[in-house]
Amino acid sequence: LRRHGVAMPQLSVRENVAATEPLPEITRGAAATRAVAFRRREDGGYTLAPPGAPELFVGPDAVRAFPHYLTQLRADPLGQRLLPFAPRGFPDAWTTRRRWSDDEPSPFERIRILDPAPNMRRIRRLLQDFAALYPELPPVRLKRAWAGMIDTMPDIVPVVDRCADLPGLIIGTGMSGHGFGIGPGMGEVLAALAMDDDPGHDLTRFRLSRFRDGSPMRLGPNV
Ligand SMILES: Cc1cc2nc3c(=O)[nH]c(=O)nc-3n(C[C@H](O)[C@H](O)[C@H](O)COP(=O)(O)OP(=O)(O)OC[C@H]3O[C@@H](n4cnc5c(N)ncnc54)[C@H](O)[C@@H]3O)c2cc1C
Repeated sequence: LRRHGVAMPQLSVRENVAATEPLPEITRGAAATRAVAFRRREDGGYTLAPPGAPELFVGPDAVRAFPHYLTQLRADPLGQRLLPFAPRGFPDAWTTRRRWSDDEPSPFERIRILDPAPNMRRIRRLLQDFAALYPELPPVRLKRAWAGMIDTMPDIVPVVDRCADLPGLIIGTGMSGHGFGIGPGMGEVLAALAMDDDPGHDLTRFRLSRFRDGSPMRLGPNV
């Protein structure tokens, strides 16, 4: 969007996830402590993730967007772990091209799917934290680990808007880790915007201009 003159302080963070080998049942629901969030799967293993503290790869976009994130940083100074380099070719990697001509592949064609390697140190700590919570469990063994990139905004609220700078462009992004849950509703709203219909909701809170019209930064609910 920046290439088209649209400024949006969106960044992406890496979140790590682990799947354990089958273990006895602790609970059928999902639960979270400050150290680990978990849920039992059909195969009897648990899916573990760290609640909060995702990893932010610092790049030019992160530096540019820094002032927008001050409110979030003040509210939760340890809320993000900073890493100096994004994987090569990722959106905010230092060497990822920001401008290209229309007859060459864009960065989005060079890497179509963001599939970051998990941080194995973080994964090992997750397993230890989970085992420490339930010392009566047999040894907690790792079955699989993966990671994903999550789009995030300075106020942890999505942008759902018609783009004033680029008529015809509809923006729906920054679901901040809740895209699966709110995706169906967002899909309906975005379809209505694209069709020039009434979305049926007051979208003021989701406007892109909130980052530049002098509005105070108001953090949304994180979960
Ligand atoms: C670690 C992590 C935890 C999350 N936790 C939550 C949560 O607790 N609650 C929540 O609401 N949301 C959560 N999210 C966000 C949620 O996962 C996403 O919002 C959701 O998966 C997006 O769904 P999607 O179908 O739009 O895209 P995706 O799930 O990314 O699916 C896109 C699919 O398209 C495929 N694809 C891409 N390009 C091509 C191509 N050219 N040809 C064929 N196939 C292609 C990809 O391989 C992929 O399978 C989490 C995300 C991460 C990374």
